Amino acid sequence: MAGTNANSDLANSRLGNSLLGRSLAELTTVALESGQPAYRGQQLFDAVYRQRVERLEQVSTLPLEYRAQLAEQGWRIGLPVVERRFVSGDGTVRYLMALADGETVETVWMPEGDGGESGDGSEAGDENSTQYAVPGTQYSVASTQGPVAEVQFGGSLVGLLPHRTKIGCAADPGRRATICVSSQVGCAVNCKFCFTALLGVRRNLEAGEIVGQIAVVLREQGVEPPMQRVNIVFMGMGEPFLNYENFMKAVQLLVEGVGVPESRMTVSTAGIVPRIYDFGREAVRPKLAISLNGSNDALRGEVMPLNRKWNIAELMKAAREFPLRTRERLTFEYVLLEGVNDAAEQAREVVELVRGMRAKVNLIALNPGAELPYRTPDEDRVTAFQRILVAAGIPTFVRRPRGRDIFAACGQLKGTVEIAPAQ
Ligand code: SAH
Repeated sequence: MAGTNANSDLANSRLGNSLLGRSLAELTTVALESGQPAYRGQQLFDAVYRQRVERLEQVSTLPLEYRAQLAEQGWRIGLPVVERRFVSGDGTVRYLMALADGETVETVWMPEGDGGESGDGSEAGDENSTQYAVPGTQYSVASTQGPVAEVQFGGSLVGLLPHRTKIGCAADPGRRATICVSSQVGCAVNCKFCFTALLGVRRNLEAGEIVGQIAVVLREQGVEPPMQRVNIVFMGMGEPFLNYENFMKAVQLLVEGVGVPESRMTVSTAGIVPRIYDFGREAVRPKLAISLNGSNDALRGEVMPLNRKWNIAELMKAAREFPLRTRERLTFEYVLLEGVNDAAEQAREVVELVRGMRAKVNLIALNPGAELPYRTPDEDRVTAFQRILVAAGIPTFVRRPRGRDIFAACGQLKGTVEIAPAQ
């Protein structure tokens, strides 16, 4: 069976022959070792990341003989292969992608984002160009009495903001397109409300397998960065900070090769505290989101056993010390579980934790499933929770579930194939 130990040598050698995942310096070495001039490295780099070719033969900048030589040496581009596509009524597409060793991961395309990945109604990374939202664009702000302004999307309430907070103007929905990418096959963190946890962790993804997911989706969707904007969120299967080196290498290749600015990327961590400090020291890095999900140690420890290793005090210390860039804000995600962590008292505890920080909160009503021992709170409860945070001056958003009908929403990625409409 794929992915077993018996296969792992073969798997490693296959991964080792992939051009995807290699830096410009590494591809230059590949060229030089074949007696080619150094600039062939740049040509390979452009073909793999900028053009995103599927096969070696398509690298038209290289002489035919060198293409043949690379193939003889066993080199391959190394893109994951789309095994299934699940298309949601809301336009979200969940891709099941096969890797070289037969393992699979999932990648999600959200044409309009989810109203929360950047946390403020603008697309991730657009905070440098925020403006007051105006009625008539997709988002509108309806003033209410007191300190709270309501943000509406398609007629329904998606955000509550402290009055006069700037939000992005989403006049062009294409600008909000978001790819949610996986960082591991499965996950080791074992959050009690997450389906991916049921898989356990099978292995880390290579940098090339992370970038490869994005390359495949960009090709499928006909999106060409940097001319066309796209947001990347490292919020799929796995815990990126438990595959830190490969995740960061993928970021670098996306920035330098694919042309996605780091400011349009967000990584979410369950709270691997030492890596939060490391991440803060990176010269080039995405924005940071932290999965809080519990307002005190007893609660958080119950739903995220990881809290016993790094408790809320340690987590919040790292968050407070995190060096934010100009206009950057930290995001806290909070999955609302009915009757567990969604009461007014817990909202007030979250306020105390986040108070004074340059941060926003994304609330996610649980995406439910038969295997999970939790229920989804109704909208009134979610809004009541949100209002408490907003009244305390904390920008707070409710993430709209995207692609729940195809098991593509937050926490639902576990390789489900037993549903229509697969293509
Ligand atoms: N491992 C990282 C990246 C995954 S991001 C992390 O934990 O942050 C996925 C987000 O979805 C996290 O904020 C997680 O708390 C949330 N989530 C997990 N299961 C969920 C579910 N069933 N319903 C709603 N959100 C969920």
